[in-house]
Amino acid sequence: MSRYTHVLAAVDVTEEAPEVLAKASQAAQDHGAGLSVVTVIRPLTHAYTGMEVAGLAAAALNFEAEAKASVENSLGALCETNGIDAEHRHVVFGVPAVEIKALGEQLGADLIVVGSHGRHGLGLLLGSTANAVLHGANCDVLTVRVHDE
Ligand code: AMP
Repeated sequence: MSRYTHVLAAVDVTEEAPEVLAKASQAAQDHGAGLSVVTVIRPLTHAYTGMEVAGLAAAALNFEAEAKASVENSLGALCETNGIDAEHRHVVFGVPAVEIKALGEQLGADLIVVGSHGRHGLGLLLGSTANAVLHGANCDVLTVRVHDE
């Protein structure tokens, strides 16, 4: 089997993130591959474009800046634990699955790692970020089964 050269771990800021990152880190080590991490923040600003008069656009911008700082902080702590330097941490705005796939291509990742709850029923019907990444990614995707309490 050919070895992976660059692994991209997609983590949200939830309690499942450490498990997803630990698996991605292990895969990168096993393959002697590089490891990058991404967290995507859904933007608020486009929802309030044109609402400058009410101050909503500015408030949304402010919120996004605060959200980015907060996510960078949480991601930083998680990455320190896994020995991932700042250069390999990415916090971007957009639709999670779209941005994860785009960054994967940009970085030349040949393996993307995401978490999956293995939900049943409605959750499965509605789809998930893991499903959306899986469909359309131009590289392998590893879904880490995250166990709910
Ligand atoms: P979900 O579809 O929200 O249950 O998330 C499944 C998995 O997709 C998570 O465990 C992460 O690996 C990834 N993911 C979901 N949302 C994001 C996000 N905003 N940024 C990066 N990865 C995400």
